[in-house]
Amino acid sequence: MQTITRLEMLRNAVGVLRTNGKTLALVPTMGALHEGHLTLVREARRRADHVCVSIFVNPTQFAPNEDLDAYPRQMAEDTAMLEAEEVSLLWAPAVTEMYPGGFATSITVAGISDNFCGASRPGHFDGVASVVCKLFNQVQPDIACFGEKDWQQLAVIRRMARDLDLTLPKPEAIAGIPTVREADGLAMSSRNRYLSPADRQNAASLPQAMQVAIARITTGADVAATLAALESSLLGSGFNSVDYAGLADADSLAPLDSLGTRPARLLVAARIGGTRLIDNMPVIAARGMS
Ligand code: AMP
Repeated sequence: MQTITRLEMLRNAVGVLRTNGKTLALVPTMGALHEGHLTLVREARRRADHVCVSIFVNPTQFAPNEDLDAYPRQMAEDTAMLEAEEVSLLWAPAVTEMYPGGFATSITVAGISDNFCGASRPGHFDGVASVVCKLFNQVQPDIACFGEKDWQQLAVIRRMARDLDLTLPKPEAIAGIPTVREADGLAMSSRNRYLSPADRQNAASLPQAMQVAIARITTGADVAATLAALESSLLGSGFNSVDYAGLADADSLAPLDSLGTRPARLLVAARIGGTRLIDNMPVIAARGMS
């Protein structure tokens, strides 16, 4: 695996990998890798000849009061994990390489970015869309793999790729990979390591309470009442606050107050011991967790 931190070197390395029509898949990450990220890497390897993983803790997607400085960074461990997965290229630019002096452009994907994490983290999806567009242009992959763990992020990126007529990757080559979970159902996340042992144990009530809510909604319970009960259940099992618990159209992310015929998604963000956890699950397609 080659680790590259300068854009001019990246272009050469990508050119070499792509010789003889070899295909390239990109897995964008912020590092502090876990089994969820590695599942994306394995899926990427299955779908392309070479895999490029990017590690970049993107300052523009963090608000001033958020955990940018505290966000876990462990480049040596991450490098070893990616070597073991036979990744071809690790793209790890510094902030100054990504955002040189005079940088002034931002992408807003309206509508789909407005609710849920977009409402509780103003500006977050502008930062995500802008950096992912740059990563796409820098690496020019045939395929890109993202986790369904960040469902709204995936929807925002697909919308951006369609709206901006991106070709590397094509919108249909942006793959969503199902959420990888711990044995007790908690979605894997780099932020789970912030949790105290007691909070870690209580955190499993998030996916459990979501499954209860989904069972109720799919058997005809009132959506608003079910979401309110979900919030109370989380507050009763150790969560400090709930940023949102909502039902949405799975593609447009438009909030729903009842189930229709289109696929829907239950999305939750809640805080426990100062750590913000997010999760989402399908509501119509299946009752189980994905
Ligand atoms: P992050 O490093 O948190 O920005 O995540 C990088 C990529 O990994 C994103 O596409 C995430 O959606 C994905 N990801 C993070 N956690 C998981 C998980 N538990 N299962 C599947 N994908 C994940």
